[in-house]
This record gives sequence, structure tokens and C-alpha cells, in this order.
Amino acid sequence: MTRAVYPGSFDPVTLGHLDVITRGSRFFDEVIVGVLQNSAKSPLFSVEERVNMLREVTEGIDNIEIQSFDGLLIDFAKSVDAHIIVRGLRAVTDFEYELQLAQTNKAVYPDIDTLFLVTSVVYSYLSSSVVREIASYNGDISKFVPECVTEKLKEKFDK
Ligand code: ADP
Repeated sequence: MTRAVYPGSFDPVTLGHLDVITRGSRFFDEVIVGVLQNSAKSPLFSVEERVNMLREVTEGIDNIEIQSFDGLLIDFAKSVDAHIIVRGLRAVTDFEYELQLAQTNKAVYPDIDTLFLVTSVVYSYLSSSVVREIASYNGDISKFVPECVTEKLKEKFDK
């Protein structure tokens, strides 16, 4: 049984994340999407909102589970008995940070390995922060996020 964790802030989930989740679900028996609470980053969406959006958009995929976590990723991975971390690589700008993260995690917890999925080229420019920025100016984000997320962003910025 291979169980992987796919961690992130998902503030909010984008089509790029969903692409990694969908592809990851074919490689592993189970993928646990770990939503980092991250109160220090003052996220736009609460952790409950981010978890609920992820649950909604992954409803059709059987072997995906959504959980939130706080603290160290390796402690979360241990708690769910996962030995694989999945991360997405968009561009060379992601690489240095991801390499450092993967090597640190390996040093602290040698039983863990990080596997990278190279982003689909259509989503290589896409990030949650860009989506939040465009939505805050009432721009069209329907190409970047699932429909229910577009609605949630509208509600947030209409307030
Ligand atoms: P973090 O706050 O940890 O960067 P994110 O929610 O921004 O969390 O991203 C979680 C993971 O998803 C990271 O591995 C990131 O590289 C990956 N990711 C983000 N956007 C995309 C995308 N458009 N295509 C592929 N992977 C992505």
C-alpha cells in the first residue's frame, strides 16, 4: 500500500493543484492532501474553507483524502503513515526552494522521499497568489480554478 501526502496552503485550490492531485492519484494507492493551517501567512480562506473546497473538487476521485495539519510536514506524514511527499514543480524558480525542503525533510526523517510531478504546461504560470490578486480586482479567473472556487472568491471579494 503506497500512501503519499501532497501538502500545501491551497489558498485556494487551483486547476494546477487539481492536475497534480489527479495525476498523483494514479501513482499511489492513496493520496492525502495536507492543508497547512499556516496562520502566520494570514490566508484569505480559513483552513475549513480550503479543506471544504478541496473536498468538493476531488469528490469524484476515490483514493483522495483531505486533511488539515499544523506544524511540521514530516510529523504530519508520520501521523498518517506516509513515506512519500508529492510536490509540483512549475518552473526553475520553484526548484531551489523545493530542493532545500526535500533535503531537509530527508535529513530529519530518512524514511521519507519527495517525488516531484512536473506541472502540465498549461498550468505552469498558475499560482494561488495570482488567482487571489486577479479576483481581488474582479478579474476573470474561471480558466484558473474550478467553478465552485470562482464562486467562493466572488463571495469573498464582494463582501
Ligand atoms: P505552498 O504554500 O507550500 O507553496 P501551494 O498551495 O502554493 O503551497 O502549493 C502546493 C504544491 O502545489 C507545491 O508543490 C506547488 O509547487 C504545487 N503547485 C502550485 N501551483 C501549481 C501548478 N500550477 N501546477 C503544478 N503544481 C503546482
